[in-house]
Amino acid sequence: MDNGIKMAKNLLKLSIEEKEHFFDSFDMIQTDCDGVLWLLGDPFEGVERSIRALRTNGKRVVFVSNNSVRTMEDYRAKLYKLTDHTVDDEDIIHPAKIVVQYLRERKIGDGLCYVIGSSNFKNCLREAGVQVLDGPDQPVPESVREVSAVINDGQPVKAVIVDFDYNMNNIKLLRAQLYLRHDALFIAGAMDTVLPLGPRMRLIGPGCYVDVLQKIADRKPIVLGKPGREMSKMLIQLYAIDNPRRVLFVGDQPEMDVQFGHVSNYQTLLVGTGGVKEEALKQLTTTPSLVPDFYIDSFADLEQIVRDVMVYKARNGHKSGP
Ligand SMILES: [Mg+2]
Repeated sequence: MDNGIKMAKNLLKLSIEEKEHFFDSFDMIQTDCDGVLWLLGDPFEGVERSIRALRTNGKRVVFVSNNSVRTMEDYRAKLYKLTDHTVDDEDIIHPAKIVVQYLRERKIGDGLCYVIGSSNFKNCLREAGVQVLDGPDQPVPESVREVSAVINDGQPVKAVIVDFDYNMNNIKLLRAQLYLRHDALFIAGAMDTVLPLGPRMRLIGPGCYVDVLQKIADRKPIVLGKPGREMSKMLIQLYAIDNPRRVLFVGDQPEMDVQFGHVSNYQTLLVGTGGVKEEALKQLTTTPSLVPDFYIDSFADLEQIVRDVMVYKARNGHKSGP
């Protein structure tokens, strides 16, 4: 804090003593994937070296994405390359997994749910035993009678679940609206209002649809992706975290990742590879929950921090770790 204004510290500009203090202040890194480790295609250069350096020096690294569109096979294939083929499924987290867990805890893990989401999101739920009601993906004839028959089907839906859907349409919103008039749970996965696909491509995200339903149903969703508190409650339980301050959350989007770190009481690090650079953080100082504790241009640069700290510790005869 500086004069009451929170400023992110640029890790590469810290003194060596501050770098050591930073390094010793966490045991686990939870990192976002898209925009941090890769953007659409191949991983960013040097990411695997950072992961290796962190793990070799005692840090557990787990992967927490808001992207349930990617299959577990795809996550594994990408992350195997970055982790010398040593990543457990348990360490790959996305909203569909959290939704399954949440429904089980509420004893509706096999209940009927109306789901707006991608095929992979829905498959993840189906494989876990959830009865998925969805669609329609095809156009409905333009008459009130025809539309009513589709949206007003009286199914005993236990939860309406909204995530990213390539084939989003108005009829799906109308169906969701009608189920929400009854006592179905209202669950949101990814809440991203914008999906950045590069510096100039920013697409409408599922958070926009959740906002529409929230307004019309006059109900707040239970958010099971970032930046929802429920997601970190489950992660804290899953990884038996006793002190959230000893977790560093790494992400590229202030509204999702930094906010998530903030509500979880984690430390936060923003990387510049998703489009939000250090300069842009100055405009966020009036919203402290969006300002990270630390900033670095890329995840790959973390290797340098680890290397600097290890050299310093070796010179001073320190042992690594807290
Ligand atoms: Mg991201």
